[in-house]
Amino acid sequence: MGQVLDCREAAKIFLNNIKEESGKLMQDGINPTLAIVRVGKREDDIAYERGILKNCEKVDITGEVHECDENIDMESFTKLIQELNVNPHVHGILIFRPLPKHLDENVIKHIVDPNKDVDSMNPLNLARVFEGDLTGYMPCTPAAVMEIIKHFNIDVKGKKVAVMGRSMVVGKPLAMMMLKEDATVTICHSKTENLKEVVSSADIVAAAIGKAKFINSDYIKKDAVVIDVGINVDDNGKLCGDVDFEDVKDKASLITPVPGGVGSVTTAVLLKNVIKGAKLAR
Ligand code: NAP
Repeated sequence: MGQVLDCREAAKIFLNNIKEESGKLMQDGINPTLAIVRVGKREDDIAYERGILKNCEKVDITGEVHECDENIDMESFTKLIQELNVNPHVHGILIFRPLPKHLDENVIKHIVDPNKDVDSMNPLNLARVFEGDLTGYMPCTPAAVMEIIKHFNIDVKGKKVAVMGRSMVVGKPLAMMMLKEDATVTICHSKTENLKEVVSSADIVAAAIGKAKFINSDYIKKDAVVIDVGINVDDNGKLCGDVDFEDVKDKASLITPVPGGVGSVTTAVLLKNVIKGAKLAR
């Protein structure tokens, strides 16, 4: 069986580093603070929020929740974001997405101050990633994949990487980050022809398609590295990835599990971004 990458353990190490940074900022009189903006009471948002707040506590970051009524109008919502933009105590703003249809995400993403945009929602931050400039805020999930790659010393230089999925939150920025590390990247999507052939020629497969256990061992080259970004629920109501873990684990050399994989590191990356924001306030 291939090695199952213990991303929870890696996340602990990342969080310890963040706590150290946060301690230094406190000594300078800065209390790193994340503002979470949630519209309505969606269960998955509340679960994600709980996880973030628990981790905030571990690393001495203040997490403050701004809960909005699900019918909040565009004007009031915009006003809230603008207030957070100019509030000197707030170093990072995270808006839970997707927003209800009546709040235009395409407008709001431009309103979030790029210097507080810890979820890389503002196209200015995304553009940097696409330019190969990784010094700004990177979207948390693809950045978590890259942290895992680095932490476990996975060599991507010159390797064939298949990124499955082309969303702006995961697939596309991840492909750019891999490219920056000199990987040879193929981006696959729902219209890709001969998907199995394309993916099974890759040394590293990063799956972000949102289809429970879709990727079986036929898609995986022997000894490939498999990073599963998917978070889905299977037919038995259990959390699972896009990869059929049981089927693939013996063929892969390294594989991330779900749960306990990329998702465990994503929040750590978010909090690392809050520290970055707090440093800008120094
Ligand atoms: P998304 O916006 O729905 O995008 C899915 C992408 O997968 C699209 O580009 C789609 O192609 C492609 N796709 C769908 N079915 C496919 C198929 N059969 N073959 C090849 N490509 C296919 O999803 P997302 O927001 O990127 O999220 C992807 C997964 O990651 C989800 O399971 C989500 O829950 C998970 N996720 C995890 C984290 C984390 O922290 N671990 C964070 C965010 C998301 P088209 O473009 O052609 O439609």
